[in-house]
Amino acid sequence: MKIIGLIGGMSWESTVTYYRLINEYVKNKLGGLHSAKILLYSVDFAEIEECQTNGDWDKSAAILGAAALSLQKAGADLIVICTNTMHKVAPEISAMIDIPIIHIADATADALLAANITKAALLGTKYTMLQDFYRERLEKRGISVLVPNGGDIEIVNRVIYDELCCGVVSPSSREEYVRIIGELKQQGAQGVILGCTEIGMLIDEQCSPLPVFDTTVIHAEKAAEILY
Ligand code: GLU
Repeated sequence: MKIIGLIGGMSWESTVTYYRLINEYVKNKLGGLHSAKILLYSVDFAEIEECQTNGDWDKSAAILGAAALSLQKAGADLIVICTNTMHKVAPEISAMIDIPIIHIADATADALLAANITKAALLGTKYTMLQDFYRERLEKRGISVLVPNGGDIEIVNRVIYDELCCGVVSPSSREEYVRIIGELKQQGAQGVILGCTEIGMLIDEQCSPLPVFDTTVIHAEKAAEILY
């Protein structure tokens, strides 16, 4: 079995989910007492968030690249970056190591196309929703991406950093998200990408007006599939 290197802590709330899902996948496939071989480098999210706020992506790339190198030296065969947003610096991290990074947007595009979805709503941090690094990767695969309007982008982003990353799950925020997903459905979206690894704490198939593509689940399963 290969060894998976997780770069987590962004936030640790969703890293816990990755750890559980990868182990559940291996248990279901191999049975008995089998579990995944995992190395975890969990960063201090406050340091990363400060880089985001300051626009200092080079510093965040250096921190995460050093983490990836540590995982490689410790024996990891592949790297999983447990956040959508920080895939912004995936190319810089990749340049520092010799092992592959399983890209979250590629895994998500595979899942959308397997479900015949070519027009998807995207919820995530403001960086993920507004910048090119994530959307372009989906668009190159033939998927058009719809994001909320300006005010709603602020709401979605605030709930991620002020609530979900702090472990707070609020019914009123869920209502807001459901409203926003409903509006994107009106605009023609066929499914919604939960493009932030904590949104699955708030939104599921039951409450969502659109079929849900939870990037945490998709990414964890993609990594687990290639472990053995
Ligand atoms: N976990 C989130 C994501 O998937 C947000 C935290 C971060 O900024 O990395 O984008």
